[in-house]
Amino acid sequence: MDVQNLIKLAFSLDHYDVVLAVGGGLTIDCGKYIAHTRDWPFISIPTSSSNDGFASRNCSLMVEGKKTTIPASVPLGIIADLDILMSAPERFILAGIGDLVLNITALYDWEFEDQMGKSTVNAFAYMLSKKAVNSFLRTPMDHLKSQILIKELVSSLTLGGISTVISGNSAPISGSEHLISHALDKLSDPPHMHGIQVGLATYLMAKVQNHRAERIFKIFTRTGFFDYVKTLHFKREELIEAVNLSPSIKPGRHTYLHEEANRDKAKEILSEDILLQNLLC
Ligand SMILES: [Zn+2]
Repeated sequence: MDVQNLIKLAFSLDHYDVVLAVGGGLTIDCGKYIAHTRDWPFISIPTSSSNDGFASRNCSLMVEGKKTTIPASVPLGIIADLDILMSAPERFILAGIGDLVLNITALYDWEFEDQMGKSTVNAFAYMLSKKAVNSFLRTPMDHLKSQILIKELVSSLTLGGISTVISGNSAPISGSEHLISHALDKLSDPPHMHGIQVGLATYLMAKVQNHRAERIFKIFTRTGFFDYVKTLHFKREELIEAVNLSPSIKPGRHTYLHEEANRDKAKEILSEDILLQNLLC
């Protein structure tokens, strides 16, 4: 959905007390942006847990033909029906896991930015985002379609969304792994699901950061995330290009990928890591 059309639509509407959006990521993003444009409260009713969009302040819309992340407002409320979320195809659940596990690399990037004097970590937002992902990591993962897993996934993604309200930016749930995913949105035709791209980039960045990569490897292996990624035939050359492009996606930030040495390390890992050799074409 093009952002200009959404703005036109928003201003063609009479006054409403609240905007409700029921559906997948695109529907939620459109409702969220209309509500934000008109300064109306927004209630999010997701039918899949494939990314944190139902709980976050940003939305992903088309600007001049390219998928772009645009700031909006967090929902006033979220209604999540676990039976509906469980009935979504497994790849949506895997994508949701990808868009949550990234908190590990995003928080490490945020600390790095703070150390470099380029940002200030908000301790409370940091703690919420960390607790959100750690709580999920302790959930039994024998079956993707279990009530407990979906409930933990949705509540952890929601906590991540709330952490961005406290920090006033997306840093607690968006770091270098998101830069790679946003770059892939520009390079790939068509791009893959957001949470899948982000999850794959999270594994890569955890290796670059040398921080909790083993834990991420175990989660993605146990849930079948890597098995699913293998079926998508991600191109190594596209990922290398995405790494090159990553600092230009958010020039105002200073994540690991904003340093050339780390981009070189990421490209080396993309070529030499045994698992990635097996997953990528
Ligand atoms: Zn995301």
